[in-house]
Amino acid sequence: MLHHCRAKPYIILEQGNIEVTEHVCTGHAETTLVQQASRIYEKDFLITCTLYTTVVPCVVCSGAIYWANIGFWNKH
Ligand SMILES: [Zn+2]
Repeated sequence: MLHHCRAKPYIILEQGNIEVTEHVCTGHAETTLVQQASRIYEKDFLITCTLYTTVVPCVVCSGAIYWANIGFWNKH
């Protein structure tokens, strides 16, 4: 996940799937990252971030990204 408030965007979080390693059936990288980001940052901060993924997010992860307002600054 990149944050864009500085002149040069920088990585604030990285996450992989934890389905197998942590035995979490909903442990997709995107959902896990959104949970971490929500604990660490305010929702207004997440608006100015962009989440990059290696595959198209599933429905659950898409919902998590939507409700966290990630990337909403870039949607208008
Ligand atoms: Zn997913």
